[in-house]
Amino acid sequence: MEDKKWALVTGGSRGIGRATCAEMARAGYNVVINYKSNEPAAQETLRLVKEAGGDGEIVQFDVVDAAATQAVLARLLKEHKIHALVNNAGITADGLFAMMPRQNWQSVIQTSLDGFYNVTKPILMSMLRVKKGCSIVTIASVSGIIGNRGQANYSAAKAGLIGASKALAKEIARLGIRVNVVAPGLIETEMIKDAPRDIILQLIPMERIGMPEEVARVVRFLCSDDASYITGQVISVNGGMV
Ligand code: NDP
Repeated sequence: MEDKKWALVTGGSRGIGRATCAEMARAGYNVVINYKSNEPAAQETLRLVKEAGGDGEIVQFDVVDAAATQAVLARLLKEHKIHALVNNAGITADGLFAMMPRQNWQSVIQTSLDGFYNVTKPILMSMLRVKKGCSIVTIASVSGIIGNRGQANYSAAKAGLIGASKALAKEIARLGIRVNVVAPGLIETEMIKDAPRDIILQLIPMERIGMPEEVARVVRFLCSDDASYITGQVISVNGGMV
């Protein structure tokens, strides 16, 4: 069992994270599924991971909570070597900047950027002992590339993730640890349940919303040896939006 590589997916309980957990299991990984509050959803992801031929473990922590994240990851890293980290946990709190409460600014930035720091730092320290074949993939957004009206907080957070990933990629490329970003466009998950579909569809050249599995397959590729010479890149999965 321990011969298999382990992947950690933050926000693995739903949406893109869930599809990524299943896809990584299909690719031969065992998967650590992180969630914040929806335990039944995380259990369903675990079921899908097992159905896909992987073993799995569920870990609850809020990526914004540095102490809780550190405590869980310290225990986890004693039990497993993590070869693939997928920083997927993210939230939106949309609204025009002129009316945006500080709380909406902070919660979105903290979830993305503090979350990146809190999770990536300890995992990286452990990857530095394994090096070869380790990979970090972070989920940003088309909003972080072109900006989006009503999403100054989210666009800032996702652009920040792109900058952090590009810098980290340069710092550790020579060690054989690759760092990349996937930037989805509109993907069919709970996150976009209130989005105005008729308006959105006009912005997508492929004239459809993407599926979580279409993002997950790119994450799996970037974690695999097939992507052995790819680091510091942002791969858009958006039906041709940019
Ligand atoms: P969902 O809202 O469907 O799922 C969000 C996931 O993140 C859940 O598993 C949730 O856990 C978890 N999560 C949220 N906050 C935290 C936290 N503080 N700590 C730990 N876990 C947390 O979102 P999507 O699947 O749509 O989004 C996944 C990623 O993709 C996000 O980073 C998002 O910004 C990005 N993205 C999504 C797009 C889309 O159109 N859907 C487009 C572009 C990017 P729980 O179930 O416990 O609440």
